[in-house]
Amino acid sequence: MSKTYLITGGAGFIGSALCRMIINETNDIVINIDKLTYAGNLESLSLIEKNERFNFEKIDICNSDDIANIFDTWQPDVVINLAAESHVDRSIKKPDSFIQTNIVGTYVLLEGARGYWGSLKGAKRKNFRFHHVSTDEVYGDLENDKTLFTEETPYAPSSPYSASKASSDHLVRAWQRTYGLPTLITNCSNNYGPFQFPEKLIPVIILNALQLKKIPVYGDGNQIRDWLYVEDHVRALIAVAKHGALGSTYNIGGYNEIKNIEVVRLICSILDKIKPLKNKNIKKYEELIEFIEDRAGHDIRYAIDASKISKELSWFPKETFITGIEKTIRWYLENLNWSSQFLNLNLEFDNTNKETL
Ligand code: NAD
Repeated sequence: MSKTYLITGGAGFIGSALCRMIINETNDIVINIDKLTYAGNLESLSLIEKNERFNFEKIDICNSDDIANIFDTWQPDVVINLAAESHVDRSIKKPDSFIQTNIVGTYVLLEGARGYWGSLKGAKRKNFRFHHVSTDEVYGDLENDKTLFTEETPYAPSSPYSASKASSDHLVRAWQRTYGLPTLITNCSNNYGPFQFPEKLIPVIILNALQLKKIPVYGDGNQIRDWLYVEDHVRALIAVAKHGALGSTYNIGGYNEIKNIEVVRLICSILDKIKPLKNKNIKKYEELIEFIEDRAGHDIRYAIDASKISKELSWFPKETFITGIEKTIRWYLENLNWSSQFLNLNLEFDNTNKETL
């Protein structure tokens, strides 16, 4: 029997990938609610917008009346909460929307879910699930050794973003423990892939390189991240939402620990092959790299132990970083119109390049 998913933040990077996968690969119904902040974009859903199993409502998760109404109208079986302010640099400059959406919004959603779940009977009540999507950044950072974040690692967030996500995770656990709400939490490493807003590291590298702009690298670029292709994350979310043990947390990671500077060099070398420069002054994209002042409180290393989800739910990432990053670069090259909605892309830097773009 088909399920009804209530997805919050489904016009964002990961949420839109989740909506596309559920609509394209299952018979389930999706109700996507999103406030459409600067990061939300309905264009990312254009491939499924006409599907009769897909529904969109422009709603702020902090609005308790609207949330109660959504539960009442759509009677969802599963909630997957992705709505969030998600950019660390923005959280450092202006934390208030992070506190509102990530903490207060999660609280409003939990209360909406609790009221709705309390009204359900029989199998509908037994099978209801509330899945909160979080980040590995709640664990703080690791030394440059072999240690990994496990589901038991104590929380030690560094930025306003990660502190707000950590707070929301605590609320979800408290609603499970105090009220018995059937919840699940996933903490995932850095995602990359198509439709990522062009302020995040990987689209910045690709789009700056294509415009022959400097490619900014924080500090010495030796920060290590564990990268996961967005569709691998989304498959993990569906597996946890459907089959995860209630009350549990699952770490999700890509088994791809790489230094930021290596990510930048790899993207530059792939672009050298698929989009070679024909410019007198710059022979290789790598020449555009510029080291800039480090981010305040910048975490050194994140690395995930994803063995629990692999063992319990047989989930493994399908993409390696090499295969995923090449797909991502090709997607940005083929979809420059999508990025140009947000950026004034200056791709007319050089006539030779213009012809081949
Ligand atoms: P994103 O910034 O691309 O998208 C967030 C979406 O939430 C946008 O569509 C935005 O309009 C919407 N939104 C923001 N405030 C809202 C509100 N008050 N009400 C309703 N909608 C609102 O983020 P993303 O990268 O897709 O991340 C999605 C989730 O996954 C977040 O919770 C994030 O913390 C988590 N996460 C992200 C990553 C990553 O690498 N991107 C890694 C791990 C976890």
